[in-house]
Amino acid sequence: MKVSTAKLVIYGILFIGALIAFIAILIPALSDLLAMFSLIGGLIVVLGIVFCVLVARTPCCPHCHELLSIRNKYPEYCHHCDKELS
Ligand SMILES: [Zn+2]
Repeated sequence: MKVSTAKLVIYGILFIGALIAFIAILIPALSDLLAMFSLIGGLIVVLGIVFCVLVARTPCCPHCHELLSIRNKYPEYCHHCDKELS
């Protein structure tokens, strides 16, 4: 996944979470479910922040800007574009 794509996903998750949290406030008929909507929206926002931290901690290839898999150790070559990582 490219860093720019990851950022879009993060913004999407945060936006949807905030939207769900505020939708009960915007729609009066849903005011009874305000606590539930806020809780679900809040959880989605937390999920987005966790994903953001994971992406921020993951190094990316300086050549193609794809996120690198570092399950074992820092790789010598990018597995997306096969260029050497210094
Ligand atoms: Zn690369």
